[in-house]
Amino acid sequence: MSENYADVIIDISHEKVDRPFRYRIPDKLIEKITPGVRVHVPFGKGNKDMTGYVVDLADKADYPAEKIKEIADIDEKAATVESDLIKTAYWMKSHYGSTMITALKTVLPVKHKLKQLQKKKITRCCDSEEIEKLIAECIKKHQTAKARVLNALLNEEVLPYSLLSEKLNVSAATLNSLEKQGIISIEAESYFRNPVKRITEREAAKPLSERQRFIIEDVIKDYRAGNVGTYLVHGITGSGKTEVYLGIIEQMIAMGRQAIVLIPEIALTYQTLLRFYKRFGDRVSVMNSTLSMGEKFDQMERARRGELDVIIGPRSALFTPFPQLGVIIIDEEHENSYKSESMPKYHARETAIQIASVKSASVVLGSATPSMEAYYRADKGEYKLYQLNERLTGGQLPKVYTIDLREELKSGNRSIFSRKLKSLIEMRLRDGEQSILFLNRRGYAGFVSCRACGFVMKCPHCDVSLSEHRNGKLVCHYCGYEEIRPPKCPSCGSKYLLGFKAGTEQIEESVHKEFPDARVLRMDADSTKTKESYEKILSAFADGKADILVGTQMIVKGHDFPNVTLVGILAADLSLNQNDYRAGERTFQLLTQAAGRAGRGSKPGEVVIQTYQPEHYSIVHAANQDYEGFYAEEIVYRELLQYPPAAHMLAILAVAKEEEQGRNVMEHFASLIKERLDLGEALYVIGPTQAAVSKINDLYRHVLYLKHSDYERLVRIKDMLEAYIKEQDYKNISIQFDFDPMNTY
Ligand code: ADP
Ligand code: ZN
Ligand code: ZN
Repeated sequence: MSENYADVIIDISHEKVDRPFRYRIPDKLIEKITPGVRVHVPFGKGNKDMTGYVVDLADKADYPAEKIKEIADIDEKAATVESDLIKTAYWMKSHYGSTMITALKTVLPVKHKLKQLQKKKITRCCDSEEIEKLIAECIKKHQTAKARVLNALLNEEVLPYSLLSEKLNVSAATLNSLEKQGIISIEAESYFRNPVKRITEREAAKPLSERQRFIIEDVIKDYRAGNVGTYLVHGITGSGKTEVYLGIIEQMIAMGRQAIVLIPEIALTYQTLLRFYKRFGDRVSVMNSTLSMGEKFDQMERARRGELDVIIGPRSALFTPFPQLGVIIIDEEHENSYKSESMPKYHARETAIQIASVKSASVVLGSATPSMEAYYRADKGEYKLYQLNERLTGGQLPKVYTIDLREELKSGNRSIFSRKLKSLIEMRLRDGEQSILFLNRRGYAGFVSCRACGFVMKCPHCDVSLSEHRNGKLVCHYCGYEEIRPPKCPSCGSKYLLGFKAGTEQIEESVHKEFPDARVLRMDADSTKTKESYEKILSAFADGKADILVGTQMIVKGHDFPNVTLVGILAADLSLNQNDYRAGERTFQLLTQAAGRAGRGSKPGEVVIQTYQPEHYSIVHAANQDYEGFYAEEIVYRELLQYPPAAHMLAILAVAKEEEQGRNVMEHFASLIKERLDLGEALYVIGPTQAAVSKINDLYRHVLYLKHSDYERLVRIKDMLEAYIKEQDYKNISIQFDFDPMNTY
């Protein structure tokens, strides 16, 4: 297949990518035209000479061939950030499967509307005595608007901008002049946006440990030698990884380079950001989901203009258009949130390595519990591995007890607390120390079923059971459907239609029953709909406003609680029993991290792991805080069954209006794939089958898995299917590709 045509976009912006124009590539340029290249093309009726970017290649004209225009020439000007972004998008499209337009929309920032409402606030910069003097002055000078502002600020140090401009009828000019006089300051509401203004003190680097200095210098030495690579820093929380990142960034900045720092949104706490601000001042910026499109676009523009050295954010910060990127750092690289859930389903780690190769930058990964992928690559010598073994803040590793729940039941204990956990909680309550009770499931309250006939209340639109909430409503967590719990079983009429609760709400209730005097906070997806409520609960707990924090995996990230000396993991098996090849890895990570929450301060910590499978290797190694031991057993299993990272896997998901169409199309795909196999080729085709959740929002889901040792082979199968899908022009069905999926479907 020769690709003699190219799609060109004249104005490369998020809004315009839907309308590329196809041109013929003249023979003399055929070798040189690839996505990302800037070209001169004749455009419009007058064939005006315009520059544009090649975004894709094609093998045929989409237009009568004789009328199609030809690319005039390549624009030889230096490579631009746009070129790099297009190259990245093209790689994502090829590597993960999606249209080029979707891939471009993923990497290009959305332009903001010019008139954009912004929440601003006004802060008083002088004390009330001075304000009173100023008021008197203003009244003398008949500056009544100014006087109104100052009066309002007499009792309140901070006021919303809108209150002054709308309610008090004060003009922007008046407020600006007050700001110029240094009486007030006007700031954007979100403190994430630019907290720097308030931080006067900067902090110099800590004296580094020998090991830390070695890592920093090793990475920088490679970089200076033009020998960029990928590095994995394996070190428990508190072992000084962040300090290493800061050191590397500092040296990069000194060389005129910029840095991208990825941190999972949930771990993007104020304390973490503060460390970056204190070190690098206002040349640091943050991206997170609370920023508006406009604010995000502003950050991107500042980066492009060279006004920033460091950007911190979740996955999408990867596409920050820095002119001379030096390093991409990915903290907590094992986190699932680094994989995109929409097409293209890219992984930030792999994409970072791709971007870094285009820009000749280094990639530094860090984790206390590295992903199997990263450790495997390090083991194969593709990444350089560094270990940091000591906690620098003092504090020993906690003492861990593994409790066999079968034994508890045998001795007649039916409570959700083992006797050991109960007595340790009582000790904490007596000594005024804090405990965390951790439920390792994504979990909500349980389902509702009939004790007489076994009927389970399900969502009419999705293949999942409804969850019962405390307000009596039954809720679908996939589509949001709600209904009131019926008084009788819809199937047999029995009145024993009861909730089977095993969620965090249930645990909170049990804590209240068992320890009536304890003050309890609960944190889960329901109690933390917003970022603020999440931070509020965490800081209330950190301030000692509760004795016990009950929660899901959210509580094991981020914050440090020096007064927590006990962590109870209530049912370690919950994440183990998921029908998923990563269940063991996820369980090990969660347990290790949860255990690491105990004893962060000066007092030693204890951890109780309650389980029905105390002999399972994920649990044994987590209890011993032994990463290598876990890795050694897990990788054998992955190799045996040809799961990533030992081999590669492609999940193909069909989402269809009609169940039968979904199944038929997938069965057809499976036979197309098998027909095209080379003789004796080791490709495993599993399925198609119904997905574990076989219906969401009235759409039926079928899945087909392929396993092969060669990633590129799976890419070629994906390309073949994509071409086939395009020809068929299917209606009412969408096909998604997911390479090395994080979950099974
Ligand atoms: P991690 O990112 O691995 O959790 P940090 O870099 O946050 O580790 O370090 C943990 C704590 O130890 C922080 O309070 C940090 O300020 C401190 N720290 C880091 N490096 C040093 C060092 N060389 N000397 C003293 N304290 C350090
Ligand atoms: Zn019934
Ligand atoms: Zn539903």
